[in-house]
Amino acid sequence: MVRSEGVHKYFGRLEVLKGIDLQVMPGEVMCVIGPSGSGKSTFLRCINHLEKLTAGKLWVDGELVGYRQKGDKLYELRENEVAAKRREIGMVFQRFNLFPHMTVCENVMEAPIQVRGVARSAARERALTLLDSVGLADKATAYPRELSGGQQQRVAIARALAMDPKLMLFDEPTSALDPELVGEVLTVMRRLAEDGMTMVVVTHEMGFAREVGDTLVFMDGGVVVEQGDPREVIPNPQHERTKAFLGKVL
Ligand code: ATP
Ligand code: MG
Repeated sequence: MVRSEGVHKYFGRLEVLKGIDLQVMPGEVMCVIGPSGSGKSTFLRCINHLEKLTAGKLWVDGELVGYRQKGDKLYELRENEVAAKRREIGMVFQRFNLFPHMTVCENVMEAPIQVRGVARSAARERALTLLDSVGLADKATAYPRELSGGQQQRVAIARALAMDPKLMLFDEPTSALDPELVGEVLTVMRRLAEDGMTMVVVTHEMGFAREVGDTLVFMDGGVVVEQGDPREVIPNPQHERTKAFLGKVL
């Protein structure tokens, strides 16, 4: 579903990604850990067309990110084409960024109506189903400010799912939450994984990584230092840097 070959990203002269090679198969969950500034968010943003690669290649669902192929020639995607691609991928951030002036249900209905031209009644029905699946059926008519952080994050997940993404990216979805609210969000994510969603999750929730992750990737300084089955990497890291990092987060 995602394949990355030699992905490099510079911001000016700062090299943030120094050749990332990774692969996520359909239905797999990849968890990404690493110290602040190691390039985790940048890598997710590259997958989602929010950053342009400086070098290397990235495929999502068999299609080269940023380009359209015609014969054996590659053309850079236009802005509207990039926007269309981005809609196939769901992204959930640390901050939930819900529309404050809309109810929970309207937040979830918004993109399907505005972007896909789905009828209001159909969008509402689907939104209610999604809200039920994240345990928030009773909050449909509430406003974001009336919800806890964990509830808002579950709405953000439902909102991303409303566009039927083929891939979900999570960038530290629980790190802004009070500790007692983390579990409810991870439960929703675990269920999503069990339902077969392909997911790339930047998280330092090692319990989640161990139970739900098919692969664990440790990034440091713009490179993948180590990757493997989380049930092997977590108890038995091979690299000193991974050991040191896990020592801090476990
Ligand atoms: P954190 O754990 O703190 O979220 P991260 O691993 O997600 O860190 P990134 O956000 O990918 O790290 O940032 C990697 C490096 O790229 C950092 O040095 C950051 O300052 C730099 N960087 C990120 N975005 C930009 C940008 N738009 N312009 C310039 N530098 C940037
Ligand atoms: Mg980040």
